[in-house]
Amino acid sequence: MQYKRILLKLSGEALMGDKQYGIDPKRLDEYADEIKKVVDKGIQVAIVIGGGNIFRGLAGAATGMDRVQGDHMGMLATVINGLALQSALEMKNVQTRLQSAIKINEVAEPFIRRRAMRHLEKGRVVIFGGGTGNPYFTTDSAAVLRAIEIEADVILKGTRVDGIYTSDPEKDKNATKFDTISFQDVLQRGLKVMDTTAFTLSQENELPIVVFDMNKKGNLLKIVDGEAIGTTVNM
Ligand code: UDP
Repeated sequence: MQYKRILLKLSGEALMGDKQYGIDPKRLDEYADEIKKVVDKGIQVAIVIGGGNIFRGLAGAATGMDRVQGDHMGMLATVINGLALQSALEMKNVQTRLQSAIKINEVAEPFIRRRAMRHLEKGRVVIFGGGTGNPYFTTDSAAVLRAIEIEADVILKGTRVDGIYTSDPEKDKNATKFDTISFQDVLQRGLKVMDTTAFTLSQENELPIVVFDMNKKGNLLKIVDGEAIGTTVNM
């Protein structure tokens, strides 16, 4: 196995499946299957989940809502997604814990780093909800932050494209994919992997990022097995 402890970042939008809003139970079930395969191999799995399928602070601000208020709604949306993922995993007998950056003790543990690491050592999947707990951040930043804190080997960013391309493959048919690329190169070429705050935090801490297609069955397992899937960003 190439990695012992991973942090998987899933966007909220990915949970929508073919829907326009909310959570698609079929997609949730598929993701739970993919995650279980990795857990069964003895890999320690932490997950940060987004909230874009329910609410984004920026979208609220665009309609005149106070940005901080909207971000609070977005953070709560990530907790809702976290609960849904937890439930889907537990239906498959995967042990999980949900930890929230916002205290919401009746539904999730508070984020406590040492406790999270202990859960991982015991083979439990730890889902981090509530983002970083602060407005003006994204769940990509939360993913990098938590990955560093729990000493994950890598961030696996599950998306609907199979890696990083020279330009947007959904718009440019001549776009070519990178198997690996350096942080420096991503910045120089102006490629979009994560928001700048998240990306810089990863670079400064030499934490590699793998961008891959989460909707392709078996991909997650192949990555932890050491197969060259997606694009790896490293130093
Ligand atoms: N959010 C926040 N602070 C954080 C993480 C998230 O305020 O640390 C809010 C923000 O409003 C964001 C929303 O939660 O738009 C959902 O997160 P994100 O947009 O990152 O979700 P994704 O795009 O991954 O679904």
